[in-house]
Amino acid sequence: MPTDWRAVTGLAVPADSPLGRGGRHVETVTGHLPPPAGRGLCALCRTPWPCGPWDRAARALEEEHLPVGYLLPLDLHAVLWPPGVAPAAPERPDGPA
Ligand SMILES: [Zn+2]
Repeated sequence: MPTDWRAVTGLAVPADSPLGRGGRHVETVTGHLPPPAGRGLCALCRTPWPCGPWDRAARALEEEHLPVGYLLPLDLHAVLWPPGVAPAAPERPDGPA
């Protein structure tokens, strides 16, 4: 039977650690996900994923240097970072090679 929710696990982290301080954003990033057999819609917002709350929380975590990929199920990595799309090459001080 398909479910609209992904399984979650609880981890204890020090409250004053970077991850502990970002706990509110971690909960938002964890809650606003499409179901495993999803239709591409956030299970909470029922809007296309990534939804607004997820995007704002992910950006807040990135600003705290907490990579959101560690909190994201692997099947959703391809949605955010499609294979074959190379990251922009860093600029070379002496111009293109
Ligand atoms: Zn949502």
